[in-house]
Amino acid sequence: MSTQRTVTLPTADHGNVTLPEPAWCAGHAHHDPLTALADLIHSGPTVGCSHLGQPLLAAEIVHSPFATHASPRRGGRTPGVSVWPLGLTLDPTELYALAADLDTFADRLRALADQLADVLARGEQ
Ligand SMILES: [Zn+2]
Repeated sequence: MSTQRTVTLPTADHGNVTLPEPAWCAGHAHHDPLTALADLIHSGPTVGCSHLGQPLLAAEIVHSPFATHASPRRGGRTPGVSVWPLGLTLDPTELYALAADLDTFADRLRALADQLADVLARGEQ
């Protein structure tokens, strides 16, 4: 028998709120007690991509169980993956499409590296 994990968070407009805590949630160590109920958010561990110390992309599962808006790709009551710097929350199909675009970009970078290697090998300026 498993018991549903819960978390109690202070809010500015509804006092302490106890809600189910998804297994994937990374916790609420940085929760601001002035957060409104509608803005409570579960966030999973961040998956990031950086190069030479510069952040390029980051993504994490998010869920705002009390969101009052229904804007697609802006988070909400349906869990999604928030992608920075897109500033969008994607569903699985959209996330696969992003991964495909990144695959294509990686191929283009390899082709560009090949071209640059040729330029340098020929001593072109
Ligand atoms: Zn949580």
